[in-house]
Amino acid sequence: MRNLLLILLIFPIFCYGEWLSDEKAIMGTSVKITLWHHDKSHGEAAIKAVFDEMERINQLMSPYINSSELYSVNKNAAIQPVKISNELYLLIKQAQLISAQTKGAFDITFASVGFLYNYRERISPSNQVRDTNQALIDYRQVELNDKNQTVHFKQQGMKIDLGGIAKGYAVDNAITILKSQGVNSALVSAGGDTKALGKHGDRPWLLAIQDPRKKGKHAIQLPMENEAISTSGDYERYFIQDGVRHHHIIDPKTGHSAAKVQSVSIIGQRGVMTDALSTSVFVLGVKDGLALINSMPNFEALIIDKDRKLHFSNGLLAH
Ligand code: ADP
Ligand code: MG
Repeated sequence: MRNLLLILLIFPIFCYGEWLSDEKAIMGTSVKITLWHHDKSHGEAAIKAVFDEMERINQLMSPYINSSELYSVNKNAAIQPVKISNELYLLIKQAQLISAQTKGAFDITFASVGFLYNYRERISPSNQVRDTNQALIDYRQVELNDKNQTVHFKQQGMKIDLGGIAKGYAVDNAITILKSQGVNSALVSAGGDTKALGKHGDRPWLLAIQDPRKKGKHAIQLPMENEAISTSGDYERYFIQDGVRHHHIIDPKTGHSAAKVQSVSIIGQRGVMTDALSTSVFVLGVKDGLALINSMPNFEALIIDKDRKLHFSNGLLAH
């Protein structure tokens, strides 16, 4: 009887709690947070802390905000080495490592051409301007100095943009914050980059991959638990002109939008990696992309090719 009383007293403490969810436009995309917290006001404070973190990263790394660190790098790094914060330095360094790993498919200097586009206004560069600026895409022309923490562009006119890696970095930070605030179960997404903490109740989180040609329809659903998934597609920011789809993923070798596939999803532990790799595999295409992911332990890929055919990396095929 006493035990029963004890259980009745303790039970509500463990079971009390609720799902909280919120969404906000940050970093040029929609940031969504869903989490479980035993205390509503703490849960809401955790959500706010994540939004604040995303906004902080945006203010640091946006190429459009003229007070951002990245903005001043683009303005000054071709003139002289620019000293930057440890945080920005480490992310640029990580991007450079991924460039080497992907033989330049991932290249933050894509922005030397990328900035000439305006997808909303349906603006793309002329072939002549594109060719001139394409010559400026080369991650090896970005010089990093570990000791001084400086970045230096070896060519005039060069620009960098972290749009292919920053959102994955942001969802990693978001999950770290949530854990530190006592959250065990959450899903955070920033556009195509998502990270799951724990499960959704007693089941894995279910993540839907968008059908690249049918808005609002899902191509496939994947279970997720304590991992990140990033999807890169040619259907979010694009316009079609004279039969050519101009979208936001640039093939560094040509300066044109990458055209080998329609969508790539990468699964792995860290969002910073899945984000950069989804962009990379989108550029590489099915054959080279799968070869890369199959050579990297603990990463998986799902690709939807030009003919809407699905391709899976070895680890997904094994399931
Ligand atoms: P999303 O931004 O929709 O999540 P991605 O993760 O594929 O999609 O990132 C696309 C972004 O990556 C572009 O908007 C651009 O900022 C950047 N980007 C485009 N091409 C490259 C490239 N070849 N290497 C590195 N970053 C790129
Ligand atoms: Mg990406």
